[in-house]
Amino acid sequence: MSSHTYKIKGMHCASCAATLEKAFKKTEGVTSAEVNYGTETAKLGYDDTKITPDYLLKKIEPLGYSLIIPTAGEMGMSESEHAAHLGIGQSKKEKIEELSVFKRKVMSVIPLAAFSLFVMGWDILAQFNIISAAPEMWREFFHHLFPIFATYTLFIVGQPYLVGIYRFLRSGSANMDTLIGIGTLAAFIYSFIVSAFEEPLRSFINVEHTYYDVTIVVIAFITLGKYLEAKSKLKTGDAIEKLLGLQVKTALVVLHNKEMEIPIGEVAKGDILIVKPGGKIPVDGVIIEGTPFIDEAMVTGEPMPAQKHEGDGVIAGTLNTTGVFTFKATKVGSETLLSHIIQMVSQAQASKAPIQALADKISAVFVPIVLVLSVLSLLAWLIVGTEYLGFSQALSYGLVSFVGILVIACPCALGLATPTAIIVGVGKGAREGILVKDAATLEKLHKVDVVVVDKTGTITKGKPELVSINALNGIREKELISILASLEAQSEHPIAHAIVSYAQKNKLEILPVKQFEIIKGMGLKGKIGNIEYFAGNAKFLENLSLNIEKKSFEKDTLEGKTPVILATKDKILGIVMVADALKSEAKEAVSKLHKLGIRVIMATGDDKNTARYIASQAGIDEFVAEVLPADKLLKIKELQSKGFIVAMAGDGVNDAPALAQADVGIAMSTGTDVAIESAGITLLNGDISKLVKAIRLSKFTMRGIRQNLFWAFIYNIIGIPLAGGALYPIFGWLLNPIFAGLAMAFSSVSVVSNSLRLKSKKL
Ligand code: ADP
Ligand code: MG
Repeated sequence: MSSHTYKIKGMHCASCAATLEKAFKKTEGVTSAEVNYGTETAKLGYDDTKITPDYLLKKIEPLGYSLIIPTAGEMGMSESEHAAHLGIGQSKKEKIEELSVFKRKVMSVIPLAAFSLFVMGWDILAQFNIISAAPEMWREFFHHLFPIFATYTLFIVGQPYLVGIYRFLRSGSANMDTLIGIGTLAAFIYSFIVSAFEEPLRSFINVEHTYYDVTIVVIAFITLGKYLEAKSKLKTGDAIEKLLGLQVKTALVVLHNKEMEIPIGEVAKGDILIVKPGGKIPVDGVIIEGTPFIDEAMVTGEPMPAQKHEGDGVIAGTLNTTGVFTFKATKVGSETLLSHIIQMVSQAQASKAPIQALADKISAVFVPIVLVLSVLSLLAWLIVGTEYLGFSQALSYGLVSFVGILVIACPCALGLATPTAIIVGVGKGAREGILVKDAATLEKLHKVDVVVVDKTGTITKGKPELVSINALNGIREKELISILASLEAQSEHPIAHAIVSYAQKNKLEILPVKQFEIIKGMGLKGKIGNIEYFAGNAKFLENLSLNIEKKSFEKDTLEGKTPVILATKDKILGIVMVADALKSEAKEAVSKLHKLGIRVIMATGDDKNTARYIASQAGIDEFVAEVLPADKLLKIKELQSKGFIVAMAGDGVNDAPALAQADVGIAMSTGTDVAIESAGITLLNGDISKLVKAIRLSKFTMRGIRQNLFWAFIYNIIGIPLAGGALYPIFGWLLNPIFAGLAMAFSSVSVVSNSLRLKSKKL
């Protein structure tokens, strides 16, 4: 069973997504189907051995849709891979083409609509005796122009809507096109019958009145609305475009002491590459020579260029602002940070937020309900209206309300409400170095009321330094560090780096270690020669029933330093202290979280005194210390059982279980990898202030979605009764279908623009 994402063609509105989802789910062998109207993609889970994309295509073709089957090349790892596979980058070209087709249609139909409105306005003004009526000859002339204009508008410009009717008749599935189609076709047919059989009909109905103008203007407005919508939808997806644009096409490689320009696809791991000033870095790697200033804003959101040195990592897609440097490629192709980001962003943008489920459910039943309502309204006018107004007038009003309801009730805005906001929100996050795994995470984040933070690497820089050494029981300082560093050389912990780099600087010997073992959250053990050594915190050694004189380092721990104790089975050999500085942004970030009404709790495996000091420095008033990774998980469970929505921010080294348990797991990335599976959100460059931004982003996005949904709903709730004539008995007023068309076009455009507003929000 595996999951595939395909681009879908032919979707016109949200109910198409619902129709398709149903069709896929009904297909035998398909286990899951998620169709997203915003990104025009379908995510399908099915058994590869039983089902082929071709088979799926056959299932949806009769409904009027198609599925783009990627070629083998596109499934590979080329530059356009993600884009093509997920249908985002590639669809830009298509969308622009589609846009120009729309534009031509709009341009051709607007003059016709303007003319219709002009004649209509004249009629209305004349009715109120504001101006005199058009001369009879002109009226006759207009009379003959209208059918011609309406025929062009309906059959050429309005073709998709007629196809919608055809599809409805053939497969029974209706969408917004069907509604518009039935509405405008009904107005056209009525008018056509009246024009064709003017004389015989004269004694039954008012043959002076036709509705060609309704057909023309409604289609014109809706086409204009769709054009504007397509135009702004193009803008919602530009975050991905920008990321794709960062990918470099060629690289300067050093081969046999010569520089050579080669295509990016040919760069291999281990290649030595050169980057000139002003050049983009082609792949991820490590600097071998040079001290360039590198601007990483476009990838990590880091605002200032920073100087890098030999041994520092560089990121593909970032910019070398000054100085030539050479570096060794460590990650190429789809492994680079940039590729991961692009993949993550496109997947997140295509995912569905839980809040959308409601909108989906409604739009699925909406179209049939509206069809029924419109027919009921027509019947009501004919039955009740005839009694009061006579048949001719009742028929005319019935027709107007029938068309009006069909036109105004399109669930288009409803379908755009959530996905457009998610696409913009996820894209904006990526530009700030906040990577969101899926829409559900973005939705959950705004509800978080407790944030549990790890200490090392989250609140502190995670780059501790060895600050003092206390050798005990007759061992020499050098020997103590040599043994300790040999053990720590096996570990990935930040503390281990501090000790090992101290030993290297002082050129101390690193000895081979046997039977090495990491004791999570406490320390480590191993054999050097025939002696077994233990190193770690006080708790670890107390567990071995060694007596620790905590007093001897209490002063240091009260200043936030961490003790690392080395011992054998029966005696303590020494204590070194390491100190890790607070991240400069930590204090401000914590205070901002507090201002958002969020509780912040620090959880660490470190010494209590150390933890207290660091917490107070960061302005955190709650902490738990000396806890094992498993206890962090329990702490989160405990908070959850009290009804809190908990986010956990950690470096991911040994916090993975806690990150996975939390409602939202937030990984602090060191800048070279984002592939932290257990995290819903990854903050690039380990910048804790991005956590505040991420929460604000979630709040803005959710507010945008709620606004969108509100407008989409309210507009139907008011629009449908108005179009049906609810106000007629009181004010004698009935909504003209032309206004229904205008409102309908406006609603989708306003939803997309509201989502786009998110882009300019300051986080
Ligand atoms: P944190 O909660 O700060 O991320 P960990 O759970 O990684 O801390 O570790 C908890 C404690 O265990 C550390 O503060 C340290 O005292 C001890 N410890 C863990 N790993 C090592 C190591 N490699 N060397 C020495 N001490 C270690
Ligand atoms: Mg940790």
